[in-house]
Amino acid sequence: MGYTMLGGTVYRDGMLLQEDVSISGGVFASRGDGNFPRFDCSSYFLLPGFVDVHVHLREPGFLYKESIATGTAAAAHGGYTTVCTMPNLSPAPDCLEHLRVQTDAIEKDARVRVVPYGTITRDEGGRELSDMEALAPYVVAFSDDGRGVQDGDMMRRAMEKARSLGKLIVAHCEDNRLLRGGYIHDGAYAAAHGHRGICSESEWGQIARDLELVAKTGCGYHICHVSTKESVALIRKAKAAGLDVTCETAPHYLLMDETMLQEDGRFKMNPPLRAPEDREALIEGVQDGTIDMIATDHAPHSAQEKSRGLAGSAMGIVGLETAFPLLYTYLVRPGILTLEKLMELMHDAPCRRFGLGGGIAPGQAADFTVYDLSSEWTVDPGNFLSKGRSTPFAGWRVQGACRLTAVGGRTAWSDGTWDMEGHL
Ligand SMILES: [Zn+2]
Repeated sequence: MGYTMLGGTVYRDGMLLQEDVSISGGVFASRGDGNFPRFDCSSYFLLPGFVDVHVHLREPGFLYKESIATGTAAAAHGGYTTVCTMPNLSPAPDCLEHLRVQTDAIEKDARVRVVPYGTITRDEGGRELSDMEALAPYVVAFSDDGRGVQDGDMMRRAMEKARSLGKLIVAHCEDNRLLRGGYIHDGAYAAAHGHRGICSESEWGQIARDLELVAKTGCGYHICHVSTKESVALIRKAKAAGLDVTCETAPHYLLMDETMLQEDGRFKMNPPLRAPEDREALIEGVQDGTIDMIATDHAPHSAQEKSRGLAGSAMGIVGLETAFPLLYTYLVRPGILTLEKLMELMHDAPCRRFGLGGGIAPGQAADFTVYDLSSEWTVDPGNFLSKGRSTPFAGWRVQGACRLTAVGGRTAWSDGTWDMEGHL
């Protein structure tokens, strides 16, 4: 058995086409296959499920912030069908035994596909490599996200090891020597309001160091949440030189900057919202292909942890339930990006680079989302499925509402427009 989504605008092979899409046995079927029950999709967009290579689901260790169950419900609600979970957990997945605590929870509770990272160093402590060899078959890549690897020689050894295992190093670049107690961008807002700033060099300095190591080791290297104009310039140069490097940025760095800061913990994340010229450089980087993909860095915390203003709140905001509508509304609709380009950034590029998913093609897993791009709504954290409610986008008007997200053809989230359960 199966079902057919009839007449939607479908993103496939880099193009938007009006066509029917059939699903049978959990995979996309060839056109004309079967005589399935039909669901009218003609006023909607049927897109391959988004892939986010940078989320924090907080389980195991921090269930009061988020869980595999709530984090993947939020992912499905936002149109994501695959998420890669960062390893700043307790226990941190630095050996098979510790990884198993997370994979057991994933098996039990995940509503979308969850692919964990392994740590680069033991407990992300930066002093000793994790059990990379044992972890390699079970993790998407290696990262110490949440902190930078401070010791260049440790990073060189990690890159050599990762290269021998055919895995990427995914780097949160942050030089602790330059932090000086900062918590927002070291720019005009910090100066005017008496806050301690985080300088741009704390990010790009470590990127520069790592790019030299990539040139030496030949390791595949991906940079997390790029936020400064200097980082974009360095990555552009490294790509031109032929280094095996990719990077991501996040919606908030493309849509906000320090001029929009308020004295509220929901404007605090790491790296921080930078200056307007950084934001412009990031948009240019996305347009010219220097920035390969957009990840949310979904980083939920409790209400209490986010209630202590800019200085005292925990760093991190949620993003899974707002990323696509925000980017569609504020980048695609004004003509800064095409919808095809946004799909490249949120699906094609992460799939290619991280070896995930396959898109809408016969035989591929039927992971898709259906969006009504004419529907307008206002971001209200009270409606989030995530336990985290802290977002600087609260109150923003957006266009694009998720109607359905399916993983392997089965409903992972639905607003009730269709009921295809029982037809698979
Ligand atoms: Zn990070």
